[in-house]
Amino acid sequence: MQHIQNLINGQLVPPVSGTYIDNYNPANGKVYSKIPDSDERDVEAAVEAARKAFPAWSVMAKEKRSAILIKLSELIEKNLERFAIAESIDNGKPLWLSRSVDIPRAVSNFHFYATAALHLHDESHSMGALAINYTTRTPIGVAGCISPWNLPLYLFTWKIAPALASGNCVVAKPSEITPMTAYLLAELSIEAGMPAGVLNIVHGLGHKVGKAIVSHPLIPAVSFTGGTKTGEEISRIAAPMFKKLSLELGGKNPNIIFADCDFDKAVQTTVRSSFSNQGEICLCGSRIFVERSIYDKFKVAFVEQVKALKVGDPMKDENWLGAIVSKPHMEKILSYIALAQKEGGTILTGGKQVKPEGELSEGYYIQPTVIEGLAYDCRTNQEEIFGPVVTIQPFDTEEEVLTYANSTTYGLAATVWTQHLTRAHRVAASLHSGIVWINTWLLRDLRTPFGGVKNSGVGREGGFEALKFFTEEKNICIKL
Ligand code: NAD
Repeated sequence: MQHIQNLINGQLVPPVSGTYIDNYNPANGKVYSKIPDSDERDVEAAVEAARKAFPAWSVMAKEKRSAILIKLSELIEKNLERFAIAESIDNGKPLWLSRSVDIPRAVSNFHFYATAALHLHDESHSMGALAINYTTRTPIGVAGCISPWNLPLYLFTWKIAPALASGNCVVAKPSEITPMTAYLLAELSIEAGMPAGVLNIVHGLGHKVGKAIVSHPLIPAVSFTGGTKTGEEISRIAAPMFKKLSLELGGKNPNIIFADCDFDKAVQTTVRSSFSNQGEICLCGSRIFVERSIYDKFKVAFVEQVKALKVGDPMKDENWLGAIVSKPHMEKILSYIALAQKEGGTILTGGKQVKPEGELSEGYYIQPTVIEGLAYDCRTNQEEIFGPVVTIQPFDTEEEVLTYANSTTYGLAATVWTQHLTRAHRVAASLHSGIVWINTWLLRDLRTPFGGVKNSGVGREGGFEALKFFTEEKNICIKL
């Protein structure tokens, strides 16, 4: 059985503890590889290696750093199929999805930041004849990057790429639930010529490795994507240490569909925004609000399309939904479906676990589920489920739907469907959310700021925002 290794100081090494954790294939529920059960000793070695590598990496000509990152992106692209298969086995997502979205996006992340860093510029503020200020941006040192399981390589590289491109060394931890592509990345980083110690990847559990990264006094900045509760724990440790923190957390995103929408596009895209990646994308819309005059028509068309979605073997192109990432997560989702029924919801389609025949019978599958008849403020409509479960309900006025949409503690993304330009702007402005899509969903330009408000996080990633996060500003004032 394959044993994943840590990447420390340019070497693939076993964990100091010598022990490993089981890694499951969610498609069949079987253990298929082993993950290092690392702890603070491995993190310590990684920090030491990163600190040693920092002086040379941080002053290396940015063109040279950029070339190494571009080489890494090219190597991932060359190995795209291998990475896509590994991602799907590890996470349960359909292979067509990792092949078309996850891995290409990891390639873009490195390419984007390798080139973006070349265009970072310093500012100058003249005080006329009196003085001149110039402001420099320097890398912060060793950056901690912690990522979740839903878009494993996509989100792992979304942090690592800007950290490295701006001259930092990195100690990174992928999710223990989906470690495989981070391991493949470690191998390729050596091949790409990344100097030893610049990128270190320590595998293991959140409360051991993650906590050791967050609490390490020589890691002054932590970029985290994951659950809101974990974000809270991280803040509790890192805030009193005055660390820079970027927190990308949970969501409970509204889809608002007005009667004047482009109906067919709204239905098709809402199917996608509800159930892509088994609904395990922080940007998925999980609460669908439809203007009453088209509610019945929308509901019938939507449910009909959802019923046609096939669930099963992630390796088969015909399946639109693959497996849920883990057994505990599947159980959590099923418990929310039961809660929704207790709260008075009616299941319009789905609602059940899927048990394929044969080799995949122990896999973790759930039907795409649509629930109607719930109040906007019940638990099902307030708490993040993070699975293939959406609720649908009618609304009468703009004011009412804004109350519903803004009622949760989250504020990550929202989608609005209307052909009415003024209303689109007005509603977008009133939504408590870091991202609003009008008549589309998940259309991403990597230059735009990405992040949430309220319990969905603190700070922004993307574009220059991330490069700014991973650098420290210094103003120098010269009296003339
Ligand atoms: P999680 O919070 O359980 O884990 C995320 C990472 O943090 C993992 O690597 C985990 O090992 C680590 N971790 C766990 N406990 C830790 C601790 N005490 N200290 C330091 N690190 C710790 O989240 P998850 O279940 O992997 O991911 C799902 C969540 O991520 C959902 O809530 C989803 O909305 C959110 N998410 C947010 C975004 C975004 O951009 N806002 C993107 C993707 C996922």
